[in-house]
Amino acid sequence: MKQRVLTGNLVLSDKVVYGSVTVEEERISRITEIEPQREDAEIIVPGFLDIHFHGTGPYGVLSFEDIAGVAAFEPQNGVTVFTPAMGACPRDMRVDFLRSCRRLAAERKSGCAVCAGSHLEGPWLDYEHRGGMGKDMLAVPDEESLDEVLKEAAGTLKLVTLAPDVPNGLAAVKKLSAAGVVVSIGHSGATPEEFTAAVEAGLSHVCHLFDAYDPRPVEEGVTRYCLSDACLMDDRVTVELICDGFHVPPELVKLACRLAGIDRIVAITDSMQGTGLPNGTYCQEDGTYYYLDNDSVCRSLEEDVGIVGSCLPMKRAFTNLVNRWGFSLVDAVKMTSANPARVIGVEKETAALREGFFADINILAPGTCELRECIVRGESCFCS
Ligand SMILES: [Zn+2]
Repeated sequence: MKQRVLTGNLVLSDKVVYGSVTVEEERISRITEIEPQREDAEIIVPGFLDIHFHGTGPYGVLSFEDIAGVAAFEPQNGVTVFTPAMGACPRDMRVDFLRSCRRLAAERKSGCAVCAGSHLEGPWLDYEHRGGMGKDMLAVPDEESLDEVLKEAAGTLKLVTLAPDVPNGLAAVKKLSAAGVVVSIGHSGATPEEFTAAVEAGLSHVCHLFDAYDPRPVEEGVTRYCLSDACLMDDRVTVELICDGFHVPPELVKLACRLAGIDRIVAITDSMQGTGLPNGTYCQEDGTYYYLDNDSVCRSLEEDVGIVGSCLPMKRAFTNLVNRWGFSLVDAVKMTSANPARVIGVEKETAALREGFFADINILAPGTCELRECIVRGESCFCS
């Protein structure tokens, strides 16, 4: 039996201790706590999950080959489990995407991260809050298209981001959540009351909070309660934050964490094809172009569109949280690993250093938390 013992500061669910993780084949067979954490030991954390992104490295999500490329590239980002997201797009492209994710989720290839299924971010979004989504791609969730996505995904559709305030939106929330899909509010103009009704209908997640959300209305000098406030206040939902420091200012990341509590916060990248590559022009799902600037974000080259996504690798979301914004290792692991795992329902098999769990593990440098090695299902898939 193939066995390997990793020794270092282990980031467990509630503490950091110096100890060892024994990996046998694809699972963790033993956790040994030795002593309090050591100053200069390597840091061992569960692999990161990214449940909301549209591409990474040279790969987008348009074809099976592309998504397979993403799976091969993700260990470089420290991501061991992922669900790629498809924005609003034509029907045929959506069906292809669902089939590709379904095929990829059926079997992990050597050297690759695990595709846990798919995420549809659209097309059932609100026009006024479409952000970088192509305006001709938006649609209303009719019975037929809902049936189609459920059928094509065959149980592998993990997340649907929609605006419950579009016509038939609430019925779509009910239908998708009853089918076991996590429904996420996003690109929406819902009032706090409409949001609460959607939560009562089964909605349980929030897409990139603060991005494509209205500011608080002010009436006669009085600040009103708004959708993003309601998302933070409702303990029934988990909340995504793009942790690049540009989409959400660090102060708002901290504010969200305090209000919602760390257990409800999910770090995402919302990264685009080209992430990890040099600055340049790249193509989006809908055929439009954007400029990727590694010192900021991806901006559309179309007139009046603006920001379309990030160029943030997940490993940098982690170092942002810990090194720049002062979160503890335990809290950063919750946001990058345990919480997203709970959202997509894989928390009983991965995303923790625990005996019997899959050996999905990152080894980080002491001090800097730079990624040194990424292990997926016991296999070393990236070494720096
Ligand atoms: Zn997105």
